[in-house]
Amino acid sequence: MSTKPKVAFYWCASCGGCEETVVDLNEDILKVVDAVDIVLWPVALDFKRKDIEALADGEIAVSFINGAVRLSEQEEWVELLRRKSGLVVAFGSCAHLGGIPGLGNVTDREGIFQRKYSAVPTADSADRVFPQVEVTVNGADAGHSYELELPSFYDTVKTLDQAIDVDYYLPGCPPPPNLVWDAVVAILEGKLPEKGAVLAPNKALCDTCPRNETKPDDFTITDFKRVATSTPEAEECFLTQGYICLGPATRSGCGERCISAHMPCRGCFGPPDGIADQGAKILSAVASIVGFTDQAGIEEAIGAIADPLGTFYRFSLPASLLGRTRIAS
Ligand code: SF4
Ligand code: SF4
Repeated sequence: MSTKPKVAFYWCASCGGCEETVVDLNEDILKVVDAVDIVLWPVALDFKRKDIEALADGEIAVSFINGAVRLSEQEEWVELLRRKSGLVVAFGSCAHLGGIPGLGNVTDREGIFQRKYSAVPTADSADRVFPQVEVTVNGADAGHSYELELPSFYDTVKTLDQAIDVDYYLPGCPPPPNLVWDAVVAILEGKLPEKGAVLAPNKALCDTCPRNETKPDDFTITDFKRVATSTPEAEECFLTQGYICLGPATRSGCGERCISAHMPCRGCFGPPDGIADQGAKILSAVASIVGFTDQAGIEEAIGAIADPLGTFYRFSLPASLLGRTRIAS
């Protein structure tokens, strides 16, 4: 029987990008496969829930779980993996902070279903059929029908650590392969930091950004811009030019991927330690550089920021202090 450590990969509400980053380990993935026994990886290997249920509690050395938790089935899976695993790593922005699926917390299940299955012009749902947790379907054998039970869709999207206890966090949308590799090596060698650590440098992106030297200590902005409608100067700090860049409130370690691609940071790494609410932090930074003191000027400047909630909380709404917007009853 193999004595290699058992490793599981699982996905909840996610886009599949975090699975890509595992593949992006390139030839290093062969070293991982050589060093561990993969016991679950739904995107690539055909293991079943009963295979995991058959393992002893704690038998899996580490489970890497990506995606936010929005279905009852996902919560059941992560609870099972928690029980069977020595370590659980929240892998990527959605598991870490709620991520893009977490923007569902601006509404609730009813709001999402109304939009998706009724309001969009392409919806062909004259009978307004919405997903149900129990349905009756006709079987292939004539005259027989069957009751099927489906996962329930939660009103509120959860981060992984709002569903289960999490040991470590690998940030990013998706986490860069070098951070994934470093984490795998640290786990295999037993050289992990304190429980609860985010496995990336604890400093703000601005500290490592190549454009930082063009950012003056004091500046004001009267005209916020968007990359969709104007072109930033190359090599100059985005924020100084009036483009919302989440670098001051975002953890470094991504390799400045967006900055190198001439795009402001959107905040996928979440905040450094000590910042409880990434969106509130950048909101306060932006408020401090608005170059107006009168109400009308402030409203005009802030009004130019398209979709403030989606901009300031793009990846972190479920992990924020509010967690979701209030739904009018
Ligand atoms: S605000 Fe953005 S562009 Fe400016 S230094 Fe920070 S990360 Fe770089
Ligand atoms: S620059 Fe910001 S949004 Fe882009 S990868 Fe880095 S942390 Fe994520």
